[in-house]
Amino acid sequence: MNEQQINDIRNDFPILSEKIYNKDLIYFDNGATTQKPRSVVEKIEQGYYHTNANIHRGVHFLSQKATEAHEEARSIVANFLGTDKKEEIIFTRGTTEAINLIAFSYGEAYCSEGDEIVVSVMEHHSNIVPWQMLCERKKMTLRVIPANEAGELDMTAYQNMLNERTKLVSVMHVSNVLGTINPVADIIKLAHAQNTPVLIDGAQAVPHIAVNVKELDADFYVFSGHKIYAPTGIGVLYGKENWLNAIPPYQGGGEMISTVSFKKTTYNELPFKFEAGTPDYIGSTALAEALKYVLNIGIDKIADYEHQLMMYATEELNKIQGMRIIGNAQNKSSVISFLVNDIHPYDIGMLLDKLGIAVRTGHHCAQPLIDSLGIPGTIRVSFAFYNTKAEIDVFVTALKKVVTMLS
Ligand code: PLP
Repeated sequence: MNEQQINDIRNDFPILSEKIYNKDLIYFDNGATTQKPRSVVEKIEQGYYHTNANIHRGVHFLSQKATEAHEEARSIVANFLGTDKKEEIIFTRGTTEAINLIAFSYGEAYCSEGDEIVVSVMEHHSNIVPWQMLCERKKMTLRVIPANEAGELDMTAYQNMLNERTKLVSVMHVSNVLGTINPVADIIKLAHAQNTPVLIDGAQAVPHIAVNVKELDADFYVFSGHKIYAPTGIGVLYGKENWLNAIPPYQGGGEMISTVSFKKTTYNELPFKFEAGTPDYIGSTALAEALKYVLNIGIDKIADYEHQLMMYATEELNKIQGMRIIGNAQNKSSVISFLVNDIHPYDIGMLLDKLGIAVRTGHHCAQPLIDSLGIPGTIRVSFAFYNTKAEIDVFVTALKKVVTMLS
């Protein structure tokens, strides 16, 4: 992408022109949430101003319009993930809800005492705790794939972990702390060799790299809208049709039923079986708009540009004395975690903030990973396609100043 293109893109994101403490905002916290382009915000406004009505059950004009928009959004998501079956797309509140859905519904149907679930050491809490809760309910064991020094999963340990008691493997596609792009295709292949289904947490992957659930052969793939330029409160669970049909509903209520009586209630077909209550039908259309925005730039172009940013920032950061980058995988996304000498991450983050630079500090909801590394947390910068090398230069200069002050 050239400078003109980046400038045009930046103009689509009004918040990037904000001043923070009278300084130009530099937003390097895209792993936590992304900023929203005008087209997405306008889509929300247009929905509420012109087509707002509850969906699926109304005969009137507005309800039909809103239903069409919601279902079209589902088709756009399906297309984005590479499936031609839109009933394989379930709208959720986000990654967390999608994982909880599978932990509950799959767990109820397929797991029992003595069984095992496999996750990795680098998982986000949302891909640990729902499985711990399942293990507690059913007296099962959680197995953990370790990682090497560089932050890459130990595939031999993983392979040795799989056995006839493994009921599901649930791993992240891209680490929100280390930036590692995990070899999920291989992870899925190995699990499938013994008929174990796999859930992939794609929260940090879909905004940055091309994902095709059919090519990966993932059984479940989940992500959050707000990390891909869409609003908060909307997310996606992709599930293979046969799995979604085989597992029971997660929540009961309106929409998810076919008939209700006090004797017997029957459930709706996919995808509605998993969408109890009024869905976020404005959020779904805004998500579709965000995906269109991303596709319009081109996901490969985005991946390439963000990789350049990551490589450049890594090179510049490594020039700082006492710099320790946490996560040096061969295959890495646009996330950089680091520490400088023994300065506490929080102190660096606080001072950078005063200079208008938004970074994240702490355990990044991956406490087991941070504990395993024996560190207090990290400072994390995570890039999006609207960030620039010029911003990285300002950030590195500011960081040097901050480090001098705190040393
Ligand atoms: N998984 C990963 C890898 C994440 O980075 C995050 C959020 O940071 C989540 C899951 C949880 O996403 P959400 O809070 O949108 O449900």
